[in-house]
Amino acid sequence: MQLFWDKKVETMKPSELAALQLKRLKKTVHAVQQVEFYRKQFSDAGISASVIKSLDDIQKLPFTKKQDLRDGYPFGFFAVPMRDIVRVHTTSGTTGKPTVVGYTRRDLDTWANLIARNMTMIGIGKDDIFQNMVNYGMFTGGLGFHYGAELIGMTVIPSATGNTRRQIEMIRDFGVTAIHCTPSYAMHLSEVAEEMGESLDSLKTGIFGAEPWSDTMRKTLENRLGVTAFDSYGLSELFGPGVAFECPERDGLHIWHDSYLVEIIDPATGERLPDGEQGELVVTPLVKEAMPLIRYRTGDVTMLMENGCLCGRGKKIARISGRSDDMLIIRGINVFPSQIEHVLLRIPEVGNQFMVYIDRINHLDEMTVEVEINRSYFSGELADLAKIQKKVVKELHDTLELRTTVKLMEPGSLPRFEGKAKRVIDRRGDI
Ligand SMILES: [Zn+2]
Repeated sequence: MQLFWDKKVETMKPSELAALQLKRLKKTVHAVQQVEFYRKQFSDAGISASVIKSLDDIQKLPFTKKQDLRDGYPFGFFAVPMRDIVRVHTTSGTTGKPTVVGYTRRDLDTWANLIARNMTMIGIGKDDIFQNMVNYGMFTGGLGFHYGAELIGMTVIPSATGNTRRQIEMIRDFGVTAIHCTPSYAMHLSEVAEEMGESLDSLKTGIFGAEPWSDTMRKTLENRLGVTAFDSYGLSELFGPGVAFECPERDGLHIWHDSYLVEIIDPATGERLPDGEQGELVVTPLVKEAMPLIRYRTGDVTMLMENGCLCGRGKKIARISGRSDDMLIIRGINVFPSQIEHVLLRIPEVGNQFMVYIDRINHLDEMTVEVEINRSYFSGELADLAKIQKKVVKELHDTLELRTTVKLMEPGSLPRFEGKAKRVIDRRGDI
């Protein structure tokens, strides 16, 4: 396969970029007319594909929601005949029916190219040995990164998930220089490596994604694994990983504007928000064939950053701060699990593993945070424990403005996650 992106695309003048986006948007709006859902949506709204005269006209089109895709199970959103579909993936997690995503041959090439662009941007390539420690099944993280890494000539080790000691042996024996996994698994990997007395000296680059993670977590992972850590963002509905990626500046993520049209909206009203304001990320992919989508609501919370990047690749999105539907409302206060993680990582007396339980007791929401105590502070003295517990309660309160119950747990007693972490258990039932 040939690389078909061009460095010029990444540093296009705004007017050239806008012209390319408009051309591709018009093509996409015509392509979705093959999908019954969109034909109906357009006719209900009294509009036709020719409504798009400028990029701003996209605001005349309705959103596509996750539930719409579920309702179209299995192949309702495919815009090409099945004989042109060469692969399907399904979305991970969540209950109920999965969302099915289809790819044409050209889609797979485009996707591999997007990943290759991202990896090239952070300076890895032919000389790197890359261990891809994510699920290779229906989840897009495995095969997505696999083909992108092969495209730029990296030596790819498709180790997938599981058997952490074996993963560590491979890193050591094969001289692995770059890894890809979830940040939670990276943390687990570093703990097991420490137990095994392995220093993983060959590692240089860590690509972490599939769940939101904080800058504090970045520092911890960089110290423990000896890597430079990069944030990777994507979702299966938009091919998979590779939608946005940090450049070496590591201050926000580049999203390829020639391939994705980005809007930030107020999740409650659907109104578009200006640059610099946090809201829900809405994306219209401009280069998808098998499953083109219009104004897809990702559910992820971020903003378009006001300033461009020193590297010249254009407007970035901020790191994802949570999911608009992951957001917990506790006693009327919005809480993102990433905020809790951020607080805990700042406190040296506790470890990196935690669980959050939400209950409703006497009509009041109660949040309980279980966190492991740090081994080196585990003296067994009750007075010490009480002091640490008080500190965690106070720090959580300072950030969340919410009283929580904190339970200190023995090191190693909380669950470890290899895929997406499920750290929040909401036991309130229907509200
Ligand atoms: Zn940059």
